[in-house]
Amino acid sequence: MASNPPSASAAPSRRKAGRHRGEGQWAVGHFTPLNGNEQVKKDDDGLNVRTRIETIYAHRGFDSIDPADLRGRMRWWGLYTQRKPGIDGGKTAVLEPEELDDKYFMMRVRIDGGRLTVAQLRAIGEVSEQYARGTADITDRQNIQLHWVRIEDVPAIWQKLEAVGLSTTEACGDCPRVIIGSPVAGIAADEIIDGTPAVEEIHRRYIGNKDFSNLPRKFKTAVSGSPVQDVVHEINDVAFVGVVHPEHGPGFDLWVGGGLSTNPRLAERLGAWVPLDEVADVWAGVTGIFRDYGYRRLRNRARLKYLMADWGPEKFRQVLEDEYLRRKLVDGPAPPQPSSRWRDHIGVHRQKDGRYYVGFAPRVGRVDGATLTKVAELAAAHGSDRLATTVEQKMIVLDVAQDQVDSLVAGLEALDFQVNPSPFRRGTMACTGIEFCKLAIVETKARGASLIDELERRLPDFTEPIAINLNGCPNACARIQTADIGLKGQLVLNDKGEQVEGFQVHLGGALGLEPGFGRKVRGLKVTAEELPDYVERVLRRFQAGRADGERFAT
Ligand code: SF4
Repeated sequence: MASNPPSASAAPSRRKAGRHRGEGQWAVGHFTPLNGNEQVKKDDDGLNVRTRIETIYAHRGFDSIDPADLRGRMRWWGLYTQRKPGIDGGKTAVLEPEELDDKYFMMRVRIDGGRLTVAQLRAIGEVSEQYARGTADITDRQNIQLHWVRIEDVPAIWQKLEAVGLSTTEACGDCPRVIIGSPVAGIAADEIIDGTPAVEEIHRRYIGNKDFSNLPRKFKTAVSGSPVQDVVHEINDVAFVGVVHPEHGPGFDLWVGGGLSTNPRLAERLGAWVPLDEVADVWAGVTGIFRDYGYRRLRNRARLKYLMADWGPEKFRQVLEDEYLRRKLVDGPAPPQPSSRWRDHIGVHRQKDGRYYVGFAPRVGRVDGATLTKVAELAAAHGSDRLATTVEQKMIVLDVAQDQVDSLVAGLEALDFQVNPSPFRRGTMACTGIEFCKLAIVETKARGASLIDELERRLPDFTEPIAINLNGCPNACARIQTADIGLKGQLVLNDKGEQVEGFQVHLGGALGLEPGFGRKVRGLKVTAEELPDYVERVLRRFQAGRADGERFAT
């Protein structure tokens, strides 16, 4: 089986041994794996597992899967085992991984740039219906996740998805995950620059490419030329944000080293302006630095943000220029503040070509295969062939003629997809939670949906933009640290002293205008049962005391 240290051409000088030699960096000659995950990646490239799935596992069944593939390499093809039903959150930390494993998989379909054709959405709907018990969740990275997938069905699912240009390649794993893009790239009337060609070029050149299939940890990319800055660029490993250079015109401002999870960090600007046709090269340089200099000793210190924290943006830019690009980058201005607090494109908006796009809100990203198929048919019936997913777990129908808008809106609302939703429907997100996730401690999706209903009933006059995010564990899949009200799932004590599902509360986080992480309110934990009362109290207090123009986080 192949090992995969950096190729000779891409590897930086090995003479630069420094104080981080002990972090397992390839760039300083540290090729001996320092933990089990690194060993699995060295033993065989994650991308190679596809052949074994197609030729062995799909025929011999779940029990034939090599454990190193099951809990490691299958992620490179978007596959995680899901949580065995009926195991409560108190057992999450005490059971062995194999005791939590169900014999079914979550499958993540990557949707780069969030862009979908009608045929692609229809295919996802059909796969969901045929192979995933009708499940389908829109994630906060523009993907769609299916559950209850059997290993026997995986090759047929790939065939169906790939026939319409979709894939699950590197949808999970220590590799370049889905490339987030502005869902209205190329059509929004207020666009600074269309990043679509850059998203497509990165995908074409580097996704499924073994130069970058063994990174220290997951690697997240975002590209947006929208003035709304609609890709949460602040919390990606590398991001390209639309900006106009005073001499060179529209291009992208380069941000590096953002990420959430247990040690959240906002990305930093390198002060460099990148033209559209150089984005893919710069992306490869930043990703190469991560591959070669990234820390591989401890998994919880492996994201690019830790290297950035040690190097700082000046050194990072210098290494990028000197060792990877072998030329200087152009200095550039910071992008302006985002033009709106809502960055989700919900509602009816005029496109630059005179047609319209229509953003609509499911509850906490939960949809289903049959409904997705109906949305695809609805879009087609109204003359559209394009849709998009957003990083807020929402969707958009693109390219709608003016005389079709009202009928489309009525059709979406008949499916309970609101085009003018309450701030609660619009601003609440939830991660997968205990229903399927092996790391979860509490339930999130159903709880998020019922919280929306309760708040709509109790606070019908609340109109402020608000982000309420629910996580099922201390990880950050639903971005709790950057929400106005972030809810981190854990077991808490109720009035009777019993352990029940609940949340640690974080208040006042934000992205976009005045980005920052929410403050953990010391000792403030609420039981799941108390949650609607608690959130209602917080929001009423804010409403009563707010100054003009004050947003929740200030
Ligand atoms: Fe699972 Fe935790 Fe991520 Fe939620 S935040 S999906 S519970 S790992």
